[in-house]
Amino acid sequence: LEERLAHTGSLSALGELAASIAHEIRNPMTTLKGFTQLLKVTASEDSIRYISVIEEEIRRMESILGEMLLLSKPALKKETTFSLETLINDMIQLFYPKAIMEGITIVQKENSLEDTLIVGEADKIKQVLLNLFKNAFEAMSKNGVLTIGIEQDVIGQIVLTIADTGKGMNKNQINRAFVSFFTSKAKGTGLGLPFVLKVVEEHGGSVNVESEVGNGTTFILSFPSAIAHVQGKFFREDKALSS
Ligand code: ADP
Ligand code: MG
Repeated sequence: LEERLAHTGSLSALGELAASIAHEIRNPMTTLKGFTQLLKVTASEDSIRYISVIEEEIRRMESILGEMLLLSKPALKKETTFSLETLINDMIQLFYPKAIMEGITIVQKENSLEDTLIVGEADKIKQVLLNLFKNAFEAMSKNGVLTIGIEQDVIGQIVLTIADTGKGMNKNQINRAFVSFFTSKAKGTGLGLPFVLKVVEEHGGSVNVESEVGNGTTFILSFPSAIAHVQGKFFREDKALSS
């Protein structure tokens, strides 16, 4: 156990270091952005093209830093009870215009659950859903279908499935999908799924993925229901360690 604690300790120290570096890098980047904008005013057409590349790369660095900051955030702080279904409805609304523009259909399966209440940090779960929706959209082209379902499994967990009809993943991709910085995209960061896994596990849940090249990918997220939570059928490791 001591060894494990030491390991967790060094991991969180690493997280803090990553967060402070990310913060420090953000400031000079803001300066860079400002001056590239200024340069564009007087630049020739050729130079404007080069400056645009610089701008694009700055945007990329910003998104990597943003996701690094998200990943290094401390474990759950403000726990509340919230409805998973509400978050999903919000996310579907958010992606609706994008779906129309890209010719993608979002299908929501009927669910027969009385409620979909879980305990944790709604903002983090929102970010989890955002990452999964983004990945699904990036994997699909026109006529793609994103199917969202919520159900309860035999042990009372709330199970969310997000299924796309996109390009799918091969064995290598499936094995490495949750490893930090693994990406198969030219402009990916490889930090989306590590965040998903970290946050879902903080909520006492689990993540599974099923995928087939050419046929699409399904992410399956299980969460302890709020009832299981209050009955104490579920407790988090960090709480067990601190008591
Ligand atoms: P990024 O999206 O920046 O590449 P992620 O951590 O979100 O990073 O995803 C890691 C990799 O997992 C992706 O580059 C892709 O290869 C694979 N992946 C994730 N979601 C899907 C999906 N819905 N369909 C196909 N591949 C996916
Ligand atoms: Mg992603």
